[in-house]
Amino acid sequence: MSVPTAATDPAVCTPLPVLGRDVTVPLVTGGEVTYAALDYAASAPALQRVWDDVAAYAPYYGSVHRGAGYLSQLSTDLFESARATVAAFLDCRADDELVFTRSTTDSLNLLAAALPAGCQVFVFETEHHASLLPWRDARVTYLDAPRTPDEAVATLEGALATRDPQGPALVCVTGASNVTGELWPVRELAAAAHAHGARIVLDAAQLAPHHPVSVRDLDVDWVAFSGHKLYAPFGSGVLAGRADWLREAEPYLAGGGASRTVSRRADGGVDVEWHDGAARHEAGSPNVIGAHAVASACKALTEEGFDRLVARERHLIEKVRTGLAGVPGVRVLSLFGDDAPRVGVLSFVVEGWNSSHFAAALSAEYGIGVRDGLFCAHPLVRTLLGTGPEAQGECGAPEAAPGEKSLNAIRVSFGAGT
Ligand code: PLP
Repeated sequence: MSVPTAATDPAVCTPLPVLGRDVTVPLVTGGEVTYAALDYAASAPALQRVWDDVAAYAPYYGSVHRGAGYLSQLSTDLFESARATVAAFLDCRADDELVFTRSTTDSLNLLAAALPAGCQVFVFETEHHASLLPWRDARVTYLDAPRTPDEAVATLEGALATRDPQGPALVCVTGASNVTGELWPVRELAAAAHAHGARIVLDAAQLAPHHPVSVRDLDVDWVAFSGHKLYAPFGSGVLAGRADWLREAEPYLAGGGASRTVSRRADGGVDVEWHDGAARHEAGSPNVIGAHAVASACKALTEEGFDRLVARERHLIEKVRTGLAGVPGVRVLSLFGDDAPRVGVLSFVVEGWNSSHFAAALSAEYGIGVRDGLFCAHPLVRTLLGTGPEAQGECGAPEAAPGEKSLNAIRVSFGAGT
């Protein structure tokens, strides 16, 4: 199958310059080869343009919200304009709050810490652990893996129908699976949540790098994503959405920046008045470079155009699928069926192979970097493999004998630099 490129089809983009694109790696067979990074779902290499933007700021290094000096003002402007850029990228509502965090994991833990008392949480077992685990202190209901998008909506509706209608409730859903790459029916799930008086948070860690995310259009209450999967360096993430629960909650971290005034009481204790806005949950010196980098990546993706990025990823995925179809014993993992729309992420198993050995061979013999294991989504991968808790850990799963079920899987994933 011939795969369209930007040269043959103008609707397809050329790979964007990313860091590490020309790294050569040694092969066990001797010689070396240019590294093929096919693990964008774990961490996407930063765009060269983002790196340049960060470097351009470096000479003006100054503290944020904490200084009268010119460079501090510049840093504050940079940080706040990054917030505005990312909010525009996510098409946030005017009264939404956008908090800079460390990652999607951090964002969802922040929201979990801000849940109102008695909040019920509904989450599919298919989620990444970052979306599955933060709610365990709440009244959480884990929903079985659906086999179609319609079944996902019906399962959620069934569960919400039994909830206490007086109390608050939250649904957490991933926009695109980090295992299968499949797109989830976010808009429909949001409508179901709202029809039952619940709110919904979208884990867009895998969606945002590949697909436009509009908070308004999807009608989700919050969205979370990670900078390092969206072509920015490590260390920054975002939680954006409704201000009320965030404003009413105790600050995620206590410290400077979150506190408006602090005073000693007559009894010797300390009284604190906390800020209301995003600052309430951004205590400590913020990661201005990280925020700037995320904003730069958002601008780059917007200017490049998601349509062209998506077209290219789709062709690459098709190329892999066609290639794998010719390999005996390969099974592509899917919840919603082979033809379900997906981002540039695909997992598979090869009968009779331990996926860790297969991935190690791809690296050592071909210089191809893929992911192996259960991808921080253990319940989902076990469901897809048809295995139980014996399939454990991220790497080095026990050997499956020929003819037995694989106990872990291999994932390839693409992005703007592939
Ligand atoms: N959600 C999904 C769907 C993911 O794929 C990941 C990471 O792989 C996360 C959340 C967690 O992201 P981070 O490790 O950046 O917090």
